[in-house]
Amino acid sequence: MSLGEQWRSARPKVAGLHLDSAACSRQSFAVLDATARHARHEAEVGGYVAAEAAAPVLDAGRAAVAALTGLPADHVVFTTGANHALDLLLSSWPGERTVACLPGEYGPNLAIMAANGFDVRALPVDGHGRLDVDTAARQLGVGPPAVVHLTALASHRGLKQPLAALADVCRDLGAALVVDAAQALGHLDCAVRPAAIYSSSRKWLAGPRGVGVLALHPDLASRLRPRLPPPEWNLSLTVIERLQHGEANVAGRVGFSVAVGEHLAAGAEQMRARLAEIGRWTREALNDVPGWRVVEPLDEPTAITTLTPTGGADPQKVRAWLIDERGVVTTCAEVQRAPFELTAPVLRASPHIDVTRDELAQFAEALADATAEAG
Ligand SMILES: *Cc1c(COP(=O)(O)O)cnc(C)c1O
Repeated sequence: MSLGEQWRSARPKVAGLHLDSAACSRQSFAVLDATARHARHEAEVGGYVAAEAAAPVLDAGRAAVAALTGLPADHVVFTTGANHALDLLLSSWPGERTVACLPGEYGPNLAIMAANGFDVRALPVDGHGRLDVDTAARQLGVGPPAVVHLTALASHRGLKQPLAALADVCRDLGAALVVDAAQALGHLDCAVRPAAIYSSSRKWLAGPRGVGVLALHPDLASRLRPRLPPPEWNLSLTVIERLQHGEANVAGRVGFSVAVGEHLAAGAEQMRARLAEIGRWTREALNDVPGWRVVEPLDEPTAITTLTPTGGADPQKVRAWLIDERGVVTTCAEVQRAPFELTAPVLRASPHIDVTRDELAQFAEALADATAEAG
């Protein structure tokens, strides 16, 4: 069985065509069972006793995240998602609050930066929105901000950003690199040992919803001042304990830990190679659909493909038609997702490694029909 066939046979049968892993992947039987089993165990022995019993599974989840990020397992904090992780980090930030990020930065991240009092400046990019590393190195060298923030793979455009090159630049300058890996973890190589990196469970790693992670470099962790409990109370808690403090859906974290374990067992490098191939297949299949233009270069090594209408089609209506009439799930990315880069909504297709060429051809046909009927 191919990696894609294994991935498909490990999950419930899909209703229609699921081309939406950048929004939420399909969980495996093992993940669904582990999550349900933990909830059941809570009912049997009590929620706090069950949580203690689950500690080894959660430790394995942290170790798996450590393997994917290059950061230590005991500096991996579970959150409720990527946005929560960024808010937790920035609300704990010591000293000057300035950040440099891509012009195509994710809208909700910009909101979190603003809410935490960060002044935002733009990193230099080329015509596609890809970071210009050499120019960035010169600009950051002149006056580095407190945080260099890179969304290694965006939600609204499937461009692989030069994460490793920027990590080298930041290391040379002694600048703190913070990485949004909501789309990149389990998709691109993120093991660059940055100051901090955060992600969601439900996207390419195919864990449950409502879970995320924040992984910290020990040098940064030792400087952070988490808001809660108030630092001046001088409670004897470590920074990691403070960040991890609070109510949690432990069953979801158990499921996520199983999902990251399954990802590593399948082979992180094989998964990345396969997702890159799926991206090329998707763009090849969609290149000639009338009324749409594929935004990414054909060979971009990501499984996110976005389409911009050339004949006035409305991506929101087309998305709805595809679900209602053909059972094809995609996303319409509105301008707010990248308010300083997107000028109009795009339609996003993000199949996981189990998609076939036949299914992508079916999608191309359905999209042509949707454009004629609903566009
Ligand atoms: C989905 C996404 C987020 C937000 O993740 P949540 O887990 O929903 O908070 C942040 N950044 C990017 C690039 C995303 O795609």
